[in-house]
Formats: sequence, structure tokens, C-alpha cells
Amino acid sequence: MYTIRNYVMADSLEQAYEWKQKGRNNVIIGGNLWLKMGHRAIQNAIDLSRLGLDQIEEDAEGFRIGCMVTLRQLEVHEGLRQAFGSLFQEAVRHIVGVQFRNLASVGGSIFPRFGFSDVLTAFLACDSYVELYHGGRIPIWEFAEMPLDNDILTHIYVKKDGRRVCYQSYRLTETDFPVLTCAVVRKADGFETVLGARPKRAVCISDVELKAPEKEEAREDYAQQVAARTEFGSNMRGSAAYRAELAKVLIGRALLELTEDKTCR
Ligand SMILES: Cc1cc2nc3c(=O)[nH]c(=O)nc-3n(C[C@H](O)[C@H](O)[C@H](O)COP(=O)(O)OP(=O)(O)OC[C@H]3O[C@@H](n4cnc5c(N)ncnc54)[C@H](O)[C@@H]3O)c2cc1C
Repeated sequence: MYTIRNYVMADSLEQAYEWKQKGRNNVIIGGNLWLKMGHRAIQNAIDLSRLGLDQIEEDAEGFRIGCMVTLRQLEVHEGLRQAFGSLFQEAVRHIVGVQFRNLASVGGSIFPRFGFSDVLTAFLACDSYVELYHGGRIPIWEFAEMPLDNDILTHIYVKKDGRRVCYQSYRLTETDFPVLTCAVVRKADGFETVLGARPKRAVCISDVELKAPEKEEAREDYAQQVAARTEFGSNMRGSAAYRAELAKVLIGRALLELTEDKTCR
């Protein structure tokens, strides 16, 4: 069971940040879905709901997504769908259920950098930047490698650059945590692959070349090389060896969809 001594509504990000610096028992509360599963004794649960951070703003270059935007907003946003096809829909649609996704926040999904995260995998597959109250704007791949600290994630900025992405995941049973997540990206200058739920933080493999994606042997060779470059681990959902095999299958499926121009966009 977790306990909260004070529930505090921040009037500004500055105030929320100051409260958070008072010690590790002062936490930002997003949808409270993960926090409530824990056993922490929380001193101040800091709510950002009044700060207008629940909007997805689109401009000519991209999307600025507030940390209190829900996973459901990502799932049904028409602009994101036009820019990235089914990526965000596919990434979140297996996460528990619609009521859950109506509460789960982008900030609470990205800041902790969960080793099982569909959401982190999806943002890593785009040219994305996190905006931290103290740390400023940094590329998401850099943020994904950083240790957890006491900052506040305020927004994520995702650039539109014409890339196509195919998202795949594998679960032992519907709505369970994924055994593996995989997003294959096709850009003007080549392919890259993000693998998550390894079960470690998602990583992007961008140094494997795929010259002839229309050829099955070339796709198999690419998948083999990406899997070989990725470090997998074991947990109750699968062994490292199983995940390495699964990675090749998911990459193969995604490449086929991207090459045949099927459902991804
Ligand atoms: C039963 C269950 C199943 C799940 N299945 C999946 C799944 O299959 N795939 C998947 O990707 N995810 C899954 N999740 C994770 C889920 O999607 C959310 O990511 C998670 O619940 C956190 O969202 P939240 O808004 O509830 O965050 P909270 O629980 O409110 O917060 C989570 C953590 O983030 C911190 N935090 C929140 N907002 C900020 C911020 N703006 N800045 C800094 N720190 C912040 C909090 O202090 C806390 O430490 C699952 C979660 C649960 C409980």
C-alpha cells in the first residue's frame, strides 16, 4: 500500500520544481496509475493539472505534447496519425484498456523510462525531444540513457520529417506487459530500429544498412544484424535468447509492411 500525506496543487512549474527538490518523498503525480501500485510513503504528491499541460499543439515543424496529455489523446489524435500513421495507436492500444489510457499521462510514462515501455519505444522511433523544467530540451535518445533525477518533464516535442514507422509488439496475453516492443523506421537515408521491453530501456540501432529492402534475404540479414547488436535480458516473460529470436521476427514483419506499403501508413 502507498500513502500520501499531502496532496498539493501547483500554481506554477517553478513552485512544483521547488517542492520536488525537498526530498525524494515529494513526487509529481501524473495519472497515479503506477504510483498507486507501489509501497511508498509520499510526503507531497504534486499535481500539475492546473498548468495547461494537457494539450497537443501542432505547428509546421511538429507537435508539442504536454506531460499531462493522456495515452488516449495520443491514440486518437488526427495530426499525429497523419504524420506518423498508426505508430501511436499501435504503441498504446494494448495498454490495459481505454479507461486506463484516459488517465495514464505522457509524463508518467516517459519520465520513469520503464524497461517495458511501449510509449518510450514509440517516441524513440521519432525525432523527439524532451523538455525538462531544469534541464531544458534534449534529444530523447540522450534522455533515455540518463539516470533518473529530480527534474520535471514538461513537454515532448516530436518533429515531422516524413519518416514512416511500423510498430510491433509481442505479448503472452492481451493487455499484459510486452515481452518485446519493436519500431522500424524508414527515413529518406535508410532504416533504423528501436527495440524495447528487452526488458531494459528501449534502444535505437541505427548503424545497420539495408540496401535492398524488397529482397527477403536482405531483410533477414538486417534483422539478424540488429538483433546481434542488441543486448537482451531475461525475466518471467521470456529469456534473452527468446527475445533475440522474437526481435528478428518482429523486425521482419515491420520491414515487410514498410516495403509493401501496407497498414503502417
Ligand atoms: C497494470 C499496468 C499495466 C501497464 N501496462 C503497460 C504496458 O503494457 N505498456 C506500457 O508502455 N506501459 C504500461 N503501463 C505503464 C502505464 O502506461 C503508465 O506509463 C504508468 O501507469 C504511469 O503513468 P501515470 O500517468 O499513471 O504516472 P504516475 O503513476 O502518476 O507516475 C509515474 C512516475 O512518474 C513520475 N512522474 C509523473 N509525471 C511526471 C512528470 N511530468 N515529470 C517527472 N516525473 C513525473 C511520478 O512521480 C512517478 O514516479 C502499465 C501500468 C500499469 C499500472
